[in-house]
This record gives sequence, C-alpha cells and structure tokens, in this order.
Amino acid sequence: MSADAGSRFVIDDPSALVSALLDDGWRVLGPRLRDDAIVYDEITGPGDLPRGLIDDQEGGHYRLRAGREASWFDYVVGPQSWKKWLFPARQKLWSAEKTGDGFDINPAADDWPKTVFFGVRACEIAAIEVQDRVFDNGDFADPGYRQRRAATLIVAVQCARSAATCFCASMNTGPHADSGFDIALTELADEAAFLVECGSARGAAILDRLEMRVPEEGHLRAAEAASKNAADSQTRRMVDDIPNLLREKLDHPHWEVVADACLSCANCTLVCPTCFCSDVEDVNDLTGDHTERWRTWDSCFTADFSYVHGGSVRRSTKSRYRQWLTHKLSTWHDQFGSSGCVGCGRCIAWCPVGIDITAEAAAFATDPEQSGD
Ligand code: SF4
Ligand code: SF4
Repeated sequence: MSADAGSRFVIDDPSALVSALLDDGWRVLGPRLRDDAIVYDEITGPGDLPRGLIDDQEGGHYRLRAGREASWFDYVVGPQSWKKWLFPARQKLWSAEKTGDGFDINPAADDWPKTVFFGVRACEIAAIEVQDRVFDNGDFADPGYRQRRAATLIVAVQCARSAATCFCASMNTGPHADSGFDIALTELADEAAFLVECGSARGAAILDRLEMRVPEEGHLRAAEAASKNAADSQTRRMVDDIPNLLREKLDHPHWEVVADACLSCANCTLVCPTCFCSDVEDVNDLTGDHTERWRTWDSCFTADFSYVHGGSVRRSTKSRYRQWLTHKLSTWHDQFGSSGCVGCGRCIAWCPVGIDITAEAAAFATDPEQSGD
C-alpha cells in the first residue's frame, strides 16, 4: 500500500512508526514524563512515550493522574513547547579569537541532525507557523532557525480531549490540524487503532515502510468524533474582535486590577510557544583573547527588557502586562498578520497566581462602569 499527501490509513499503534523513524536515522523528539510533567525530549524507542496519563489543568494548576491504561495521548500540552528546540533558550552566536592585529570571528556551529517532532498538537503547529513569520519571513531570516525548521519532520497528534485551559477552538488554531504536518495520528480509543493522515512526500516515504490498512467508515467517523469532542469540551474562549477592542482600552481601569495580582515573573512568556523576545550578551575571558556572543530568551515582563539610557521605559507591572497583552492579541496582527496567541492555555496553567488571558481579555470588553473595576 503506497502513501501520498492526503491519503489515510489505519495502524494498530504508533510503535512501528517510532521504530521506523529511528531505524531510518531520525532523531525523534517527543513527549516524555519528567518531574511529574510531560516534557519534550529525545525518544529512544516507543517505550519512552508516556502512556495511561491524563492532565488536569487550571489557572496556576497542572497535575498528571492515571487515565485509561492503554491510552497513548490523552494528555494535552505541558510546560514546554517545541520553541525550546527551534529557538533555544540559550544559544552561542559566534566566538572571536584575538590575532596579531585584530580578531578572527567564528560563527557557532549549529549541529541539527534530521529531526522528528513527534506528537505535535494543532495549536503547536500554529505556534511554529507564528514563529516562522518572526524568524523566517523572507526579509529577515534567522539562518539557524531556517536550517533547523527545514530539517524537521512533524508528526502531529490530533487531540481527542481538551484541558480546561485550552481555547484553541476560539483562536481557529485547533483542536484538529488540517495542515502543517508530514504525518498526523488520531488515536481511536474504542477501536484500539490509530488513523494516519499523510501530509507530505516526506511523510509518505516513512509511511511506505509500515504495514497499514485501508480505513473503514467507522474509523473515519471515530476520528471526526474525537476532534469534535475536543472542540466541544473547551469551556474557555477568547472574546470576539480582541485586536480592535484592545486598541481602544489602553486606559481601562482593569490594567490596575491585573497588575495588582501579577508578579511580573515572566513565566507566561517563557512557557508561551510564540513569545520570541531575546537578549544578546557578550562574554569575555580574563585574558582578553577570547570572546563569545550568546543569545538568550528574554521577557517583556523584566525591568531590564525596556532599559534604554537612563532607565526602563516600562517601570510598572501595569505597563509590562499591558505591553504583553496588547502585543500578543492586537499589535501582533499589524506586525505579522496573525494573533500572537494560539490558545494553548500554557500561560494560564503556569502562571503562579492563575491569571487567565481569556478572563483578562473579557474584562477589557466590559464597560468600566459595569465591570466593578
Ligand atoms: S498567550 Fe498563553 S494561551 Fe496564547 S499561545 Fe501564549 S501561552 Fe498559549
Ligand atoms: S501574568 Fe502570571 S505568569 Fe505572567 S508575569 Fe504575571 S504573574 Fe507571572
């Protein structure tokens, strides 16, 4: 049975796919259990994939618990995103060695073997595409990002449930991925099988090595029902027309209310799969013969982030939170043609005080006289 983009098949479970990828020399990065959370790390065999787990998420809350024993992907997104691989938190850009009359500058080697992101959810594909528009938008390309992205195969997993923090349906970024993957898997719990969608020629070349069956009507119906269940179970949503709404609300009293709760800790920006702010630092040794330039993640929630000569522009938590929310949900559209939020809910679950971006956005939709602020 031969695959091509758009074709669909059925397999018993993802084991053979993981093994085929490893046998073919791919580095497979996927979900693993570490410190009671699902993180993304290297997979050395199908047995590394966490099974039988489900995540409970709420504002400031993330817990894993036992779910259906045989399930493979009942949990959704955890604290990490694929950003940590495509846009590393700390990365050497170049080093320089002193010579007799100057410096030799050596760009840092960017060693990126052919890599599979295994288990990418629809909102995460959308987040990667948001970062593509930042790091590889034609006019301004980050060569390392472009190289890593081009050498990365995406195996998506279609969500069959949502966490209480998910709101991708209202952002039109999920829970079903229609594109942006090489292969997509839908777990069909009642059938003890997976529906496989082929998304590209690269995906087809892998799938051609597997034993697959033609899907029956029941498989297709079960896959549709799984995606519908994930969408229907989302209780949070983003308010309508938020980009225009926020433009008019820069002086709304609710900014003070959220600033009173916000710790300016930057967690929300670090877990966010689209936030891309960075700093650059030069590190010199004591001899003066060697220097290195490093890029590190930064956050608009730190005082230093807006430091210009003489002090920080955004000194208050109110001004930092307003910068984050208005950029993420409003001015991002002007810069990149889309929202900077994909509705993954990470900033809700990993905010230590449980600040909820959907609730904050909704508060700005209310008239200050009626909001009680
Ligand atoms: S702003 Fe929050 S919900 Fe939106 S993409 Fe970032 S972490 Fe996810
Ligand atoms: S909104 Fe929450 S996670 Fe973000 S800076 Fe404030 S306290 Fe930290």
